[in-house]
Amino acid sequence: MKYIDEYRDGTLARAIATTIASEAVPGRHYQFMEFCGGHTHAVSRYGIEDLLPSNVRMVHGPGCPVCVLPVGRIDDAIALALRPGVTLCTYADLMRVPASGGGSLLKARSAGADIRMVYSTMDAIRIAEDEPGRDVVFFAIGFETTTPATAIAIRLARRKMLRNFSVFCNHVLTPPAIRAVLDVPDDDNADEHTGGVRIDGFVGPAHVSTVIGTTPYVALAKHFRKPVVVAGFEPLDMMQAILMLVRQINDGRHDVENQYIRMVSEAGNLIAQRAIAEVFELRASFEWRGLGELPDSALQLREAYADLDAERRFSITTVSTADNPACECGDVLRGRTKPAECKLFGTVCSPETPMGSCMVSPEGACAAHWAYGRFR
Ligand code: SF4
Repeated sequence: MKYIDEYRDGTLARAIATTIASEAVPGRHYQFMEFCGGHTHAVSRYGIEDLLPSNVRMVHGPGCPVCVLPVGRIDDAIALALRPGVTLCTYADLMRVPASGGGSLLKARSAGADIRMVYSTMDAIRIAEDEPGRDVVFFAIGFETTTPATAIAIRLARRKMLRNFSVFCNHVLTPPAIRAVLDVPDDDNADEHTGGVRIDGFVGPAHVSTVIGTTPYVALAKHFRKPVVVAGFEPLDMMQAILMLVRQINDGRHDVENQYIRMVSEAGNLIAQRAIAEVFELRASFEWRGLGELPDSALQLREAYADLDAERRFSITTVSTADNPACECGDVLRGRTKPAECKLFGTVCSPETPMGSCMVSPEGACAAHWAYGRFR
C-alpha cells in the first residue's frame, strides 16, 4: 500500500540498523525517550529495540493521553455520568480506566449511568441535537492532536445555540510534559546507577507535531541540551530518527530536527492553532498521572465559552486521588520502569483485568508490551 509499504521495508530497516551500529561509539551508552504512545506501540510492534545495538536503548515516555489522566478526573466523569439527565460521551479506551474504589466508566454504565462511546466530537453534537431533553457532556481528553476537534465542536455548539451540550475538558500539552520529565534534580536524571533514568534525546511526537510544528521544542532542546527528532510512526521513520539522534549525540549537538517532513512543518497547522486559541486558554495547574501537578500544562475553556464548560455548569471540583499503590504506571510514564518490571504485569494486570491506565489504552506502554509479547 502506497505510503505504508515503503516505510516497512525490512531490508532498508536492517541497513539503517547496520549504520546505527557502526556509528554508535563503542563503550558509549545512548538512551532515547520516545514521547508518544504511538511510537511506544511501534517500538513493541516492529521489534525496533531488537534491531538496535545493545548500547542504543529506548525508554517510553508519557505521551499516552489515557494513561496520564489522573484517577480524580475519571472519578469526576463517573460522578457526572451518574447525575440524572446527564449523558456522558466518551472515547472507548476511557471506559475501562480504573477509577478509585475499583470503579470505571464501564462499571458505572452497568450501574445505570448513560455513557455512550463515540468516535468523534461530532457524534456528541449529534446526540445533543437529537435528544434535547438530555444534558450531553463530551469527555474531552488528549494532547494537541485531538484539541482542535474539541475546539471546533465547541464553536459549532455555540453557532447552533445548543444549550444541552458541554465539554469536560482534560486536554493537555506536550512541551510541559517533556519539561517535567527532564526537569528533575541532576542526580535523579543522571544515569541508571542513581535509580533515575538518563535521557540523551527525544523522538518527538508525530501527530502532535503536525498541529504545533517543531518550533515549540527548540527552547526545550536548548535549555536541557537534549536533541529532539520529530518522527513518523512507521518502523523506517523510527529507525531513521534514532540514527539522526545518534549522529547529534556524536556531534555534540542538541538541535530540533524533523524526520517526518511529509507531515510536519516548522510552524504546524495554523488553522488548528487558531481554533484552539479562540476557545481555550492555559489552565493554571493540572494533575498528571505519573508526573504530578504541572503548572501551565493543560487547557480550559475561555470565559467567552463558560456556558459550554461542564466544569462550571456542574460545579466540578476535582479531588486528587492516589493511584493503586501496587501499580507502577507513574514510573512507567517517566521511563524509569519497563512494563515487565512491574510485579503485576501479566499476573493480576492484563488487558482483561487492567490495574492501571497503562494497560488499558492501546497507546499505553504496558498494553503495547503485552500485545507484542515483550516480557522483558
Ligand atoms: Fe500498572 Fe499494570 Fe502497568 Fe503494572 S503492568 S504498571 S499495574 S498498568
